[in-house]
Amino acid sequence: MNNSSAAIRRAFHEFFAERGHSIVPSASLVPPNDPTLLFTNAGMVPFKDVFLGREQRPYQRAVSAQRCVRAGGKHNDLENVGYTARHHTFFEMLGNFSFGQYFKRDAISYAWTFLTETLGLPAERLWVTVYEDDDEAAGIWLDEVGVDPARFARIGAADNFWSMGDTGPCGPCSEIFYDHGPEVPGGPPGSADEDGDRYVEIWNLVFMQYERGADGALTPLPSPSIDTGMGLERIAAVAQGVTNNYDIDLFRHLVDATARLIGTDDREGSSLRVIADHIRACAFLVVDGVLPSNEGRGYVLRRIIRRAVRHGYKLGVSEPFFWRLVEPLIGEMGEAYPELANNRELVERVLRLEETRFRETLEQGLRLLETDLADLTGDTVPGETVFKLYDTFGFPVDLTADVVREQGLHLDMAGFETAMSAQRERARAASVFRAEYGGAADFGGTTEFSGYEVREDAAQVIGLYRD
Ligand code: ATP
Ligand code: MG
Ligand code: MG
Ligand code: MG
Repeated sequence: MNNSSAAIRRAFHEFFAERGHSIVPSASLVPPNDPTLLFTNAGMVPFKDVFLGREQRPYQRAVSAQRCVRAGGKHNDLENVGYTARHHTFFEMLGNFSFGQYFKRDAISYAWTFLTETLGLPAERLWVTVYEDDDEAAGIWLDEVGVDPARFARIGAADNFWSMGDTGPCGPCSEIFYDHGPEVPGGPPGSADEDGDRYVEIWNLVFMQYERGADGALTPLPSPSIDTGMGLERIAAVAQGVTNNYDIDLFRHLVDATARLIGTDDREGSSLRVIADHIRACAFLVVDGVLPSNEGRGYVLRRIIRRAVRHGYKLGVSEPFFWRLVEPLIGEMGEAYPELANNRELVERVLRLEETRFRETLEQGLRLLETDLADLTGDTVPGETVFKLYDTFGFPVDLTADVVREQGLHLDMAGFETAMSAQRERARAASVFRAEYGGAADFGGTTEFSGYEVREDAAQVIGLYRD
């Protein structure tokens, strides 16, 4: 088969549709009615209530390609972007789900058949792990599928036992890895140096078979369920014979478009890849109703946009550029996600305005940082500097960390927290004073950088984002 990202997405849908699964379109990145979750971060999120038995659907088997963001909350891969070959802030998770129908045997056999037959991957490149106590899954893999015990491992709960929360459905996992070969650094799953990019986790099968009670005890579920997740970009890299996700078709085109736009050919550093990653997260977040702001989801979006803008600046771009990547992104993903093209104007306006505003303080902030670093002894950037950048120049802390990490430095976070509390204390004292004396005095102290605020409702947006 043609192994483009789009063809793999389609093949996955078809494979499971042929096996009785309903094709369910990707849900929003903003989970409706779930304040506990910042973003949809896995394919199972839209099915949470179905697994819990609170919601009925007209199907008991589903397949999806779910857009996910892992840039905040429990799953945060923002710091990995630019540093590993396999993590993105935004990615698509392919998944098949069984709500009380089939269980381990079918889930394992479907996954193996899809990988080795549909995609034609060589079995000797695939490694498998199961939860250490899961003899049932181990038996299926070793005795029925015939996986070589040399490429098989039992792993502890940290990686191979999944729970929905402190209580509720949970169960063992089985992960499938692909070995990209000895030229890529990294050790096999379960080894001390497993954190490299050689053995890449491609597919995670979750066997939901228990319910954890408030007392921590596990009770078997009457009808166990299946939840699986496979990163489209990772499996595309495997199928396309490249060892880095950023070398797959979709990312190559986005990176090329960015390079052309900026007028650089600097492929050595990670900036082009970071920008290509970030445009996907930012565009889809805006499509799903998130706008830059100083708190919650909006602040995550703002942080990602500003990181991208800083990387563009580093590459020497002189005009707002980030919004111009919406067009090539639509070229890559518009067919699978028509909502991208439908919201093009809004997305472009939001990104352009945020970049324009941030550019006003970015350069000054970077200059200040450079001056402070010139006097630095040791490898820790003082909390006062981090605070000044945050407070006066609108540098999210992770952006400052991203800048100095390139020079092998890190931040004095305790010092930053102290400066933040001192500022809060000043603000509190000032408001007490104002309340008592009713004056509109200027206290001369620092004011929190507020950038610009937008109410997250559509009418406001259209007005605010009109040129
Ligand atoms: P890893 O250990 O590599 O960080 P994970 O165990 O956190 O992955 P899961 O939560 O099991 O990932 O998600 C299911 C699948 O989604 C993974 O097997 C992988 O293919 C993909 N995936 C997870 N995180 C990312 C990411 N940040 N970018 C791209 N793909 C991802
Ligand atoms: Mg992870
Ligand atoms: Mg993992
Ligand atoms: Mg996993």
